Amino acid sequence: MRILVVEDETKLAEALKRGLELKGFTVDWLADGDKARTRIMLYKDEYDLILLDLMLPDVGGDTICRDVREAGVMTPIIMLTARDEMEYKIDLLNSGADDYVTKPFSFDELIARIQAVLRRPAETLPGILAIRDIELDSGKHTVEKAGKSIPLTLKEFSLVELFMRHPNEAMPREAILDHVWSFDFPGFSNVLDVHMKNLRKKLDDYDDVEPLFETIRGVGYRLNG
Ligand code: CA
Repeated sequence: MRILVVEDETKLAEALKRGLELKGFTVDWLADGDKARTRIMLYKDEYDLILLDLMLPDVGGDTICRDVREAGVMTPIIMLTARDEMEYKIDLLNSGADDYVTKPFSFDELIARIQAVLRRPAETLPGILAIRDIELDSGKHTVEKAGKSIPLTLKEFSLVELFMRHPNEAMPREAILDHVWSFDFPGFSNVLDVHMKNLRKKLDDYDDVEPLFETIRGVGYRLNG
């Protein structure tokens, strides 16, 4: 497993590199945001995960995240942020990050988040699921809509897979959160709404009488098959 660390604080970066290498990861470190963006675009398949600092001197981590997602890079990204405001967290997730940790964080917390993001859904269940014009291949980790490949982040993929395994069922928010975020996500269930909004943009046809993803007031969401 190869991780790209983008962080301009040398001490923190060196500590992360050392710690992650002790856990068996291969780690590349860049301190420069612009170089990191170029590296991610060019070598996206080389990395299993990117740890991206929000406050970089040249270009912000959120901008990098948005840019590489727009370029179709789906590598999991965990943001390292010093800010802890709710609004800002939503903004980060909207930029396409899979998760974030707030500085100062413990190394154990970071490892837990990395493991959660890298954890893939069980692949023992049937491989191809199809509903309406959407087809999901859990082995290949791909989703197509009307034959066209739709790039999804890991979290988005897990959500679509969960819904497609339970079509036409009202899924309670807690069950969805438990399934997709394997460890405690303290008091921040807005994260689900943010991801659902992103998924609707990618997969829903707004002219349908019945939306693909329906909000069930007071319960959660339902995928209408
Ligand atoms: Ca920084």
